[in-house]
Amino acid sequence: AKKAGREKVMGFIPAMQDNLLATALFRSDFKKALASKAFTVHYQPLVDLRTSKTVGFEALARWEVSPGKFTPPSLFIPLAEDIGLIPELTEQLFRLACLETLNWPAQITLSFNISPILLCNKLLAPSIISIMDEMGLAADRLEIEITESALFQDANAARYTLKKLRDAGIKIALDDFGTGYSSLSQLCNFQFDKLKIDKSFIDTFRDNEKQDKIVRSIISLAGSLGVKVTAEGIEYANQLELLKDLGCDIGQGYLLGRPAAKAIFHQVTSSIIYN
Ligand code: C2E
Ligand code: CA
Ligand code: CA
Ligand code: CA
Repeated sequence: AKKAGREKVMGFIPAMQDNLLATALFRSDFKKALASKAFTVHYQPLVDLRTSKTVGFEALARWEVSPGKFTPPSLFIPLAEDIGLIPELTEQLFRLACLETLNWPAQITLSFNISPILLCNKLLAPSIISIMDEMGLAADRLEIEITESALFQDANAARYTLKKLRDAGIKIALDDFGTGYSSLSQLCNFQFDKLKIDKSFIDTFRDNEKQDKIVRSIISLAGSLGVKVTAEGIEYANQLELLKDLGCDIGQGYLLGRPAAKAIFHQVTSSIIYN
């Protein structure tokens, strides 16, 4: 309240200086957090809906601000982008995720999120490939998840990165499919291995006829393009059953397993409780 009052009295310039100061302080906090390894990774199972077996895990970043207390990535990833520390953060998270992946059976894959800004960086593909080499992780264990905003920030740079990654044998998933402006044209302009239907479509698709039709169409579109499809945000048994019936390949959501500090393989439940 004191700060707001001061801004009102002193006007625009001091408010801007306050922002710069806040940014600088935050940047130094963030650097300390990087140095003290306060960033960790949680893992959420990706389940094959035909076999009900876990086929991979998505790595989800966490900032442990105090023991057991985590700040969500929706808050700190955009800030890390703003202060230019996404490359450092991503490398730290990626190394942790690779180490964890080495503990899993060889057919289990790692899905790793890459910020749009970083996807347009020509150093990304070579550094991912060299870290995997160094750790002894085969390229076919990795899937990179990107959102379409990366694809029109700098289409040529994105295309370069995606080609390098795919040539090395790394798979590419188009995340949050359907939420952007041009999801369909991105399907024509770029080559993907997987589409991830955004949670917002899964949330209500059992109760909303239009959403139901959209989800059906995305699944059949993916099928006809020869691209795998994942549904995220599955929380209820009736969502799961319908997605299985529609031929959705992979499922992810609290019903199948929550993100956890160690990979927990999905347990096939014998009795499905309908709601
Ligand atoms: P996303 O890639 O769409 O990841 C899925 C988000 O949905 C995760 O949130 C996950 O915890 C949450 N989720 C999964 N199943 C359910 C469910 O059944 N119900 C509900 N309510 N939520 C579910 P989270 O971990 O908070 O991550 C949010 C976003 O932050 C991610 O969305 C991703 O865009 C970004 N993110 C996370 N980790 C990284 C990272 O290492 N690098 C980058 N660049 N972005 C990351
Ligand atoms: Ca993702
Ligand atoms: Ca997603
Ligand atoms: Ca999402």
